Amino acid sequence: MRILLSNDDGISSPGLAALERSLGTLGEVWVVAPESEQSAASHAISLHRPLRLTELGPRRFQVDGTPTDCVYIAINHVMRGKKPDLVVSGINLGPNLGDDVTYSGTVAAAMEGTLLGVPSIAMSMAGRPPLDFEAGALFARTLGTEVARRGLPKGVLLNVNVPATTPKGFAMTFLGKRNFGSLVEERHDPRGRRYLWIGGSETRHDDLPGSDCNSVYDHGLISVTPLRLDLTERALLPLLEPWDLPGFPRQEAR
Ligand code: MN
Repeated sequence: MRILLSNDDGISSPGLAALERSLGTLGEVWVVAPESEQSAASHAISLHRPLRLTELGPRRFQVDGTPTDCVYIAINHVMRGKKPDLVVSGINLGPNLGDDVTYSGTVAAAMEGTLLGVPSIAMSMAGRPPLDFEAGALFARTLGTEVARRGLPKGVLLNVNVPATTPKGFAMTFLGKRNFGSLVEERHDPRGRRYLWIGGSETRHDDLPGSDCNSVYDHGLISVTPLRLDLTERALLPLLEPWDLPGFPRQEAR
Protein backbone atom coordinates (compact mmCIF):
# COMPACT_ATOMS: atom_id res chain seq x y z
CA MET A 1 0.00 0.00 0.00
CA ARG A 2 1.24 3.47 -0.97
CA ILE A 3 0.21 6.34 1.30
CA LEU A 4 0.59 10.06 0.69
CA LEU A 5 0.75 12.32 3.75
CA SER A 6 0.32 16.07 3.78
CA ASN A 7 -0.94 18.72 6.17
CA ASP A 8 -1.45 22.47 6.62
CA ASP A 9 0.76 23.01 9.67
CA GLY A 10 3.95 22.54 7.69
CA ILE A 11 6.52 19.81 7.11
CA SER A 12 7.97 20.01 10.64
CA SER A 13 4.65 19.64 12.49
CA PRO A 14 4.62 16.96 15.22
CA GLY A 15 1.16 15.94 13.96
CA LEU A 16 2.65 14.96 10.60
CA ALA A 17 5.52 13.14 12.31
CA ALA A 18 2.97 11.11 14.31
CA LEU A 19 1.26 10.03 11.07
CA GLU A 20 4.60 9.14 9.47
CA ARG A 21 5.39 6.84 12.40
CA SER A 22 2.02 5.08 12.62
CA LEU A 23 1.25 4.75 8.90
CA GLY A 24 4.82 3.70 8.13
CA THR A 25 3.88 0.23 9.40
CA LEU A 26 1.01 0.02 6.86
CA GLY A 27 3.00 0.52 3.69
CA GLU A 28 5.19 2.90 1.71
CA VAL A 29 4.74 6.43 3.02
CA TRP A 30 5.35 9.52 0.88
CA VAL A 31 5.31 12.99 2.42
CA VAL A 32 4.69 16.15 0.41
CA ALA A 33 3.89 18.99 2.78
CA PRO A 34 4.01 22.79 2.91
CA GLU A 35 7.31 24.42 3.84
CA SER A 36 5.51 26.82 6.21
CA GLU A 37 2.26 26.87 8.13
CA GLN A 38 -0.81 27.14 5.87
CA SER A 39 -3.62 26.81 8.41
CA ALA A 40 -6.92 28.30 7.16
CA ALA A 41 -5.55 28.26 3.58
CA SER A 42 -8.72 26.45 2.57
CA HIS A 43 -8.62 24.97 -0.96
CA ALA A 44 -6.37 27.66 -2.42
CA ILE A 45 -4.15 26.64 -5.34
CA SER A 46 -1.17 28.72 -6.49
CA LEU A 47 -1.85 29.33 -10.17
CA HIS A 48 -0.02 32.63 -10.53
CA ARG A 49 3.40 32.16 -9.00
CA PRO A 50 6.30 29.69 -9.24
CA LEU A 51 6.41 26.79 -6.76
CA ARG A 52 9.62 25.37 -5.32
CA LEU A 53 9.77 21.64 -4.62
CA THR A 54 12.58 20.49 -2.31
CA GLU A 55 13.53 16.86 -1.67
CA LEU A 56 14.38 16.51 2.02
CA GLY A 57 15.00 12.76 2.05
CA PRO A 58 13.72 9.51 0.59
CA ARG A 59 10.03 10.04 -0.37
CA ARG A 60 9.99 13.26 1.67
CA PHE A 61 9.36 16.64 0.01
CA GLN A 62 8.37 20.18 0.86
CA VAL A 63 6.64 22.73 -1.35
CA ASP A 64 6.54 26.48 -0.71
CA GLY A 65 2.81 26.47 -1.36
CA THR A 66 -0.59 25.51 -0.01
CA PRO A 67 -1.81 22.06 1.09
CA THR A 68 -3.70 21.80 -2.21
CA ASP A 69 -0.49 22.60 -4.15
CA CYS A 70 1.27 19.83 -2.23
CA VAL A 71 -1.27 17.09 -2.98
CA TYR A 72 -1.61 18.22 -6.61
CA ILE A 73 2.18 18.16 -7.10
CA ALA A 74 2.52 14.87 -5.21
CA ILE A 75 -0.02 12.93 -7.27
CA ASN A 76 0.58 14.58 -10.66
CA HIS A 77 4.36 14.93 -10.47
CA VAL A 78 6.35 13.51 -7.56
CA MET A 79 4.45 10.19 -7.49
CA ARG A 80 3.60 10.14 -11.18
CA GLY A 81 2.98 6.53 -12.23
CA LYS A 82 2.83 5.53 -8.55
CA LYS A 83 -0.60 6.79 -7.58
CA PRO A 84 -1.21 6.51 -3.82
CA ASP A 85 -3.88 4.14 -2.47
CA LEU A 86 -4.66 6.55 0.34
CA VAL A 87 -4.16 10.22 1.22
CA VAL A 88 -4.05 11.23 4.89
CA SER A 89 -3.83 14.90 5.87
CA GLY A 90 -2.84 16.06 9.35
CA ILE A 91 -2.80 15.49 12.14
CA ASN A 92 -3.91 19.10 12.50
CA LEU A 93 -2.95 21.00 15.67
CA GLY A 94 -6.53 21.99 16.42
CA PRO A 95 -10.09 20.99 15.57
CA ASN A 96 -11.79 21.03 12.16
CA LEU A 97 -15.40 20.73 13.29
CA GLY A 98 -18.59 22.13 11.79
CA ASP A 99 -17.98 25.22 9.67
CA ASP A 100 -14.22 24.93 10.24
CA VAL A 101 -14.06 22.57 7.28
CA THR A 102 -14.77 25.44 4.87
CA TYR A 103 -11.61 27.27 6.02
CA SER A 104 -9.40 24.30 6.72
CA GLY A 105 -6.19 23.60 4.82
CA THR A 106 -6.09 20.15 6.42
CA VAL A 107 -9.47 19.23 4.96
CA ALA A 108 -8.53 20.85 1.63
CA ALA A 109 -5.54 18.53 1.21
CA ALA A 110 -7.95 15.58 1.57
CA MET A 111 -10.35 17.31 -0.85
CA GLU A 112 -7.59 17.49 -3.44
CA GLY A 113 -6.80 13.81 -2.96
CA THR A 114 -10.49 13.04 -3.44
CA LEU A 115 -10.70 15.19 -6.58
CA LEU A 116 -7.71 13.29 -7.98
CA GLY A 117 -9.45 9.97 -7.35
CA VAL A 118 -7.68 8.78 -4.20
CA PRO A 119 -9.59 7.80 -1.00
CA SER A 120 -8.69 10.54 1.47
CA ILE A 121 -8.88 11.23 5.20
CA ALA A 122 -8.42 14.52 7.10
CA MET A 123 -7.22 14.14 10.71
CA SER A 124 -7.42 16.85 13.40
CA MET A 125 -6.87 17.06 17.15
CA ALA A 126 -9.59 18.96 18.98
CA GLY A 127 -7.32 20.61 21.50
CA ARG A 128 -4.43 23.00 21.82
CA PRO A 129 -0.72 22.17 21.88
CA PRO A 130 0.95 20.44 23.58
CA LEU A 131 -1.10 17.54 22.15
CA ASP A 132 -0.75 13.80 22.52
CA PHE A 133 -1.09 12.39 18.99
CA GLU A 134 -0.87 8.74 20.05
CA ALA A 135 -4.59 7.86 19.87
CA GLY A 136 -5.13 9.91 16.71
CA ALA A 137 -2.18 8.33 14.92
CA LEU A 138 -3.37 4.84 15.88
CA PHE A 139 -6.91 5.67 14.73
CA ALA A 140 -5.57 6.99 11.39
CA ARG A 141 -3.84 3.67 10.82
CA THR A 142 -6.93 1.63 11.73
CA LEU A 143 -9.32 3.79 9.69
CA GLY A 144 -6.85 3.95 6.80
CA THR A 145 -6.79 0.16 6.68
CA GLU A 146 -10.60 0.01 6.58
CA VAL A 147 -10.82 2.75 3.92
CA ALA A 148 -8.24 0.97 1.76
CA ARG A 149 -10.28 -2.26 2.08
CA ARG A 150 -13.74 -0.80 1.51
CA GLY A 151 -12.97 2.26 -0.62
CA LEU A 152 -15.00 5.46 -0.49
CA PRO A 153 -17.75 6.67 -2.85
CA LYS A 154 -16.58 9.02 -5.60
CA GLY A 155 -16.30 12.62 -4.39
CA VAL A 156 -16.46 11.76 -0.68
CA LEU A 157 -13.77 12.14 1.98
CA LEU A 158 -13.68 11.39 5.71
CA ASN A 159 -13.12 14.21 8.19
CA VAL A 160 -11.87 12.95 11.55
CA ASN A 161 -11.56 14.86 14.83
CA VAL A 162 -9.88 13.35 17.88
CA PRO A 163 -10.68 14.68 21.38
CA ALA A 164 -7.79 16.05 23.43
CA THR A 165 -8.66 13.59 26.21
CA THR A 166 -8.35 9.80 25.84
CA PRO A 167 -11.10 8.87 23.32
CA LYS A 168 -13.96 6.68 24.57
CA GLY A 169 -14.51 5.28 21.08
CA PHE A 170 -15.61 6.71 17.76
CA ALA A 171 -18.89 7.81 16.17
CA MET A 172 -20.04 8.47 12.60
CA THR A 173 -21.28 12.06 12.70
CA PHE A 174 -22.59 15.04 10.72
CA LEU A 175 -21.13 18.55 10.77
CA GLY A 176 -22.22 20.59 13.79
CA LYS A 177 -22.15 24.31 14.36
CA ARG A 178 -19.40 26.11 16.25
CA ASN A 179 -19.87 29.65 17.52
CA PHE A 180 -16.90 31.96 17.28
CA GLY A 181 -18.60 35.29 17.78
CA SER A 182 -17.69 37.83 15.14
CA LEU A 183 -14.62 39.44 16.60
CA VAL A 184 -13.08 42.41 14.81
CA GLU A 185 -10.45 44.00 16.98
CA GLU A 186 -9.03 47.32 15.94
CA ARG A 187 -5.46 48.14 16.98
CA HIS A 188 -2.64 50.45 15.99
CA ASP A 189 0.79 49.42 14.75
CA PRO A 190 4.01 51.07 16.04
CA ARG A 191 3.74 53.64 13.22
CA GLY A 192 0.30 54.62 14.41
CA ARG A 193 -1.56 53.02 11.51
CA ARG A 194 -4.78 51.19 12.14
CA TYR A 195 -5.07 47.43 11.59
CA LEU A 196 -7.76 44.82 12.19
CA TRP A 197 -7.45 41.44 13.83
CA ILE A 198 -10.36 39.12 12.95
CA GLY A 199 -11.66 35.72 14.05
CA GLY A 200 -12.99 34.94 17.52
CA SER A 201 -11.73 32.16 19.73
CA GLU A 202 -14.89 31.02 21.51
CA THR A 203 -15.29 27.27 21.53
CA ARG A 204 -18.98 26.89 22.28
CA HIS A 205 -21.15 24.94 19.87
CA ASP A 206 -24.84 24.38 19.17
CA ASP A 207 -26.28 21.34 20.95
CA LEU A 208 -26.91 19.04 17.97
CA PRO A 209 -27.03 15.38 19.05
CA GLY A 210 -25.14 13.25 16.53
CA SER A 211 -22.96 16.13 15.36
CA ASP A 212 -19.17 16.12 15.29
CA CYS A 213 -19.06 18.94 17.90
CA ASN A 214 -21.28 17.11 20.39
CA SER A 215 -19.50 13.78 19.89
CA VAL A 216 -16.00 15.22 20.38
CA TYR A 217 -16.57 17.96 22.97
CA ASP A 218 -19.47 16.57 25.02
CA HIS A 219 -18.86 12.82 24.79
CA GLY A 220 -15.10 12.43 24.29
CA LEU A 221 -15.54 10.44 21.08
CA ILE A 222 -13.51 10.48 17.87
CA SER A 223 -15.83 11.87 15.17
CA VAL A 224 -15.82 10.58 11.59
CA THR A 225 -17.82 12.79 9.22
CA PRO A 226 -18.24 11.87 5.55
CA LEU A 227 -17.99 15.05 3.46
CA ARG A 228 -19.23 15.39 -0.11
CA LEU A 229 -17.43 17.69 -2.52
CA ASP A 230 -20.55 18.23 -4.64
CA LEU A 231 -22.05 21.17 -2.74
CA THR A 232 -25.27 21.20 -4.79
CA GLU A 233 -28.40 21.27 -2.64
CA ARG A 234 -30.48 19.09 -4.96
CA ALA A 235 -33.52 19.10 -2.67
CA LEU A 236 -33.86 22.86 -3.25
CA LEU A 237 -33.88 22.71 -7.06
CA PRO A 238 -37.64 21.96 -7.41
CA LEU A 239 -38.44 24.62 -4.80
CA LEU A 240 -36.65 27.22 -6.92
CA GLU A 241 -39.03 26.53 -9.85
CA PRO A 242 -41.44 29.41 -9.00
CA TRP A 243 -38.66 32.01 -8.82
CA ASP A 244 -39.34 34.68 -11.39
CA LEU A 245 -36.53 36.89 -12.69
CA PRO A 246 -38.15 39.46 -15.03
CA GLY A 247 -36.24 39.99 -18.27
CA PHE A 248 -34.53 36.63 -18.04
CA PRO A 249 -36.57 33.75 -19.53
CA ARG A 250 -36.18 30.46 -17.63
CA GLN A 251 -34.76 27.61 -19.67
CA GLU A 252 -34.40 23.94 -18.91
CA ALA A 253 -30.95 23.18 -17.51
CA ARG A 254 -29.09 21.07 -20.04
MN1 MN B 1 -3.46 23.71 10.79
